[in-house]
Amino acid sequence: MTTRRMHPETMVLHAAYRQDEATGAVAVPIYQTTSYQFRGTQHAENLFALKELGNIYSRIMNPTCDVLERRFAAIEGGVAGLAVGSGQAASTFAVMNLCQSGDNFVSSTDLYGGTWNLFANTLKGMGVEVRFVDPADPQAFARATDARTRCYYAETLPNPKLQVFPIREVAEIGRSLGVPLIVDNTAAPLICRPLDHGAAIVMYSTTKYIGGHGTSIGGLIIDGGNFDWEAHAERFPLLTQPDPSYHGAVWTEAVKPLGPIAYILRARVILLRDIGAAMSPFNAFMFIQGLETLALRMRAHCENAAHVAAFLSAHPKVTAVIYPGLQAGEARKRADQYLNGGYGALVGFELKGGREAGRRFIDALQLVYHVANIGDARTLAIHPATTTHSQLSEEDRIATGVSDGYVRLSIGIEHSDDILADLAQAIEQA
Ligand code: PLP
Repeated sequence: MTTRRMHPETMVLHAAYRQDEATGAVAVPIYQTTSYQFRGTQHAENLFALKELGNIYSRIMNPTCDVLERRFAAIEGGVAGLAVGSGQAASTFAVMNLCQSGDNFVSSTDLYGGTWNLFANTLKGMGVEVRFVDPADPQAFARATDARTRCYYAETLPNPKLQVFPIREVAEIGRSLGVPLIVDNTAAPLICRPLDHGAAIVMYSTTKYIGGHGTSIGGLIIDGGNFDWEAHAERFPLLTQPDPSYHGAVWTEAVKPLGPIAYILRARVILLRDIGAAMSPFNAFMFIQGLETLALRMRAHCENAAHVAAFLSAHPKVTAVIYPGLQAGEARKRADQYLNGGYGALVGFELKGGREAGRRFIDALQLVYHVANIGDARTLAIHPATTTHSQLSEEDRIATGVSDGYVRLSIGIEHSDDILADLAQAIEQA
């Protein structure tokens, strides 16, 4: 069945799976197994030598994860995917698949706090240098690039600033210099397809909208198959030079009969093999369940967020509302260029009373959950300065856009009247 021309509403239900070969089951089965019986020694040898693709061991591949990977690759317009144990594992793998000690990569400053810490501290400690640049100036990516720059990294719709990243501008700069752009599209599934705008790799925390139910932690990496690693071979020795850990395989060569999947194949057979941050089959099943309603949910999320943003911007106790649909100038132009079908579900705002008012607001909420998460079907709120961004230095926190009084809302799919009523009563008490 061809899925390429289907609409996202259809692909979330149908792409990459019709029925279970063995039983005819229409729902994707949970293949809760660690290992797979080989058909014989030749079969086993072929699988290990990658002469034949197939299941070996669930740390590296699993049939339930495989449906999620192929389904989401189809939705993104990519060639292949890799499911991993968390969004953090996805960002770690996405960068480590290209960078070794002594290399560098250029990242937008506008990042999830956990990703910032991973880049600024953990990867730095491993000898991989991150060069942070302001995404408002796409040329800053070019200026920060040198011969050891292996990739660019950014989020489509980063909170708290909620200014959409200039994907096409930076992807084009990268392509002219031979540097691929990796985009974390966690906050904008379906409403943005970064590969359409020139990104090479897309990654997600599936923990958020793709699941939507708030039950499972997971991550996905999608290979666009649209970057010519061999044309810039000196930049990507991990993909274009013999790999001593895999009997000298050259990944760009090894995939020739399979298609342009060198990046994602290496991430699977080297990083999953060695680091082991695999997604469990049960969680893959949960994400497949969530994914089925993603198109409907994103529509409801976006509509509700627009109502909330309008309500907050008219409220006398609110001094600022941060929401792409209310931005002006270049930021609004980018929101309209890259987001399709809504401005996402994240809304930030500042209360007149600053930090203390923010705390009182959070404590007064009754319907809205106070949790460190986004993308749940339920409406969520948090005060980032004292929670998600509290591990950053004050200087780094302000640089990411988290002021003392900032409140972040992740708007859910409840009836908007009920969301607004809870926000209104909590603001009264703030
Ligand atoms: N990327 C973004 C934009 C996020 O918001 C998060 C988590 O909040 C992550 C990555 C990390 O994902 P996970 O919590 O699944 O590890």
